[in-house]
Amino acid sequence: MLTDTTVPFFSGAASVRRDWSRISHRVRKIVRRGRFTSHEMVHQLEKAIKEYTGAQHAIACNSGTDALILALRAAGVGPGDEVILPTYTFFASVSSVIHVGADPVLVDIVPGSYAIDPDRAAAAVTSRTKAIMPVHLFNQTADLATLCDLAEELGLQVIEDSAEAIGMRVAGRHAGRWGTAGVLSFFPTKTLGALGDAGMVLTDNEDIAGRVRRARCHGEATELRHTYLELGWNSRCDELQAAVLLTRLERLDQDILRRAQLAQRYSERLARLPQVTIPWQAPAKHQSNLVWYVYLLETERRDELVDFLADHDVGTEVYYPRPLSHQPCLRHLPGARHPVPVARAASRRAVGLPLYPDLTDEQVDLVCELIEKFHGGRDE
Ligand SMILES: *Cc1c(COP(=O)(O)O)cnc(C)c1O
Repeated sequence: MLTDTTVPFFSGAASVRRDWSRISHRVRKIVRRGRFTSHEMVHQLEKAIKEYTGAQHAIACNSGTDALILALRAAGVGPGDEVILPTYTFFASVSSVIHVGADPVLVDIVPGSYAIDPDRAAAAVTSRTKAIMPVHLFNQTADLATLCDLAEELGLQVIEDSAEAIGMRVAGRHAGRWGTAGVLSFFPTKTLGALGDAGMVLTDNEDIAGRVRRARCHGEATELRHTYLELGWNSRCDELQAAVLLTRLERLDQDILRRAQLAQRYSERLARLPQVTIPWQAPAKHQSNLVWYVYLLETERRDELVDFLADHDVGTEVYYPRPLSHQPCLRHLPGARHPVPVARAASRRAVGLPLYPDLTDEQVDLVCELIEKFHGGRDE
């Protein structure tokens, strides 16, 4: 039961209602045309995302996870190759590497940005290393300039897991465009969310773009129906999802602004509590702008706080309860027992608070009040 004091971790209901007439206008067009995948809406979405990100090629597919697999494969990452990535990220970052047959090498992160530690990445390079996969989590990018310099020096590729990073830019260049290829996820909770699954590959490389386009449709030659040049997948994007995304893209910058206001409201109030650590920006060669996909708080009594908030109808999400190297299906990886103290501390202390454009100032105040109450009152 939703009550006035319920704050779900995520809700997109009000946003959908807000956008509904413009979405349904596009849906009616789709129904009139009678083409339901990879058609006009998807082409328009690809064009709009190219404009938004500045990428030469934007190729829509079924999910952010598929986009990672397609991008890695198209970049030539496969059996025998190692890919260095952070141990603190969503599971799809690492599973995509394994699905293309390569070996993931998981390394620790830096505090603040929760992104891969460039020094750890450099130390993990071997003769088999093919690529580095920076992941941009929560509200800022990894230290892209440093990582790209390192990759260039060593002749490695950079494949960015920029699934969360729409709107994030470093020195004016959109996330996902620093490396050979990058991705976007349009999972419903993401900053630009569909009403289901969808994703996108971003690249400036013509050859990679062509391979991704082929591979998302079974490996079929673009100009020759029923002729398959390689083994691919079915990873098409639905016209319906493209219609939703095109509509929401028109308001994306406003939504990003609203997210920033809400994040600032949390930070101003929670900064006064000595028991918690509010989000901060890790020093990087060039700073990324902040785009608030997730508001991540750290506290020593995280698990108790999560229970306390749940008892008061406030939803939270623990990102991520354990480093990837501690996942049951990944414990066999070489290096899985290497110490990753920063990731371990984050997995013990971090919790995501509700943050989405539908959230009201009053709801943020309520969550803050409860966090203060949990920690025994405000410390003035
Ligand atoms: C969401 C996400 C993905 C996967 O995207 P899906 O669209 O859910 O498949 C991959 N990596 C990161 C970091 C993500 O946050």
